[in-house]
Amino acid sequence: MLQTIKKIGVLTSGGDAPGMNAAIRAVVRTCAFHSIKCYGIYRGYEGMIDGDFVEMDARSVKGIINKGGTILKSARSKAFRTVEGRKAAYDQLKKAGIDAFVVIGGDGSFTGAMVFNKEFDFPVMGIPGTIDNDIYGTTHTLGYDTALNTVVEVIDKIRDTASSHNRLFFIEVMGRDVGHIALNVGVGAGAEEILIPEENLGLDRLLESLRRSKTSGKSSSIVVVAEGDKIGKSVFELKDYVEENMTEYEVRVSVLGHMQRGGSPSCFDRVLASRMGVKAVESIITGKSNYMVGLKNDGMDLTPFDQAVKGKSKIDKELLRVSDIMSI
Ligand code: ATP
Repeated sequence: MLQTIKKIGVLTSGGDAPGMNAAIRAVVRTCAFHSIKCYGIYRGYEGMIDGDFVEMDARSVKGIINKGGTILKSARSKAFRTVEGRKAAYDQLKKAGIDAFVVIGGDGSFTGAMVFNKEFDFPVMGIPGTIDNDIYGTTHTLGYDTALNTVVEVIDKIRDTASSHNRLFFIEVMGRDVGHIALNVGVGAGAEEILIPEENLGLDRLLESLRRSKTSGKSSSIVVVAEGDKIGKSVFELKDYVEENMTEYEVRVSVLGHMQRGGSPSCFDRVLASRMGVKAVESIITGKSNYMVGLKNDGMDLTPFDQAVKGKSKIDKELLRVSDIMSI
């Protein structure tokens, strides 16, 4: 028999990403639309264990659609990885009368939700929020598009100084396991080379490409490097290597770091967050549980948590070829 859902909790967990607030707003307002009470759960699973809940109505999420970060705060909870911690969280949810929750986060957060669902048969739904876009089952995670725009803007600025001094810049961007950010900003900002975790292009090819750039009369060169680049050298080691082998280059390094996570979400992320929030709540109402909401073929789609967690998000290798052609 379908359980009647009267109260839904919403939390943000793991690393923050632009668009999380827009997703909280969407979950809260969809609940209000369907006359379901909504509770914000502070500090991810840590706040769930502590019973740190606040009732939210349609007005409590005004003015947040354009804000980066998350008003509910986020956390990584060691205690939730233990049976005792999860039992304490379950007791707090029951005490507050919460019947289901929506977790906005990455694959770790979904694993936690999946384990919790299995142990307590508690309805859970996920919204992918991470700038890396490294989750299977959605072409875009929340925050990814904003991060691309932020990084492209910064590289454009670095290009200004690079071309004024005829310099070569290595720019490190986020992406430990997948090269989505590096590949797309590389093409978007006109990088000469893009180094990603999925492909080892090799140091010889890098030198050859930089030599070609120099002889073709380019006044600056940008190489975008993902954190987890497969060549296995840090941006600083790459700088040393190129300076040793190509004395004609003056090389600089820029590690973009946490600024990539911040800022006001792009229109794309706000719309995506709104759609995902509606889909998550309405899926719970119709009795669905243990799924992640995703964007597929321009529509909202559900992927079982175990597939979302185990599956691998794949880069578009054609973009590497496009980049090669563009950097002639
Ligand atoms: P990001 O992509 O930003 O790292 P994430 O959701 O993958 O986000 P994690 O720190 O891996 O971030 O996971 C968030 C939280 O989910 C953890 O702090 C922990 O509380 C919970 N969690 C992760 N894995 C498990 C697990 N196997 N069992 C129970 N809880 C888990």
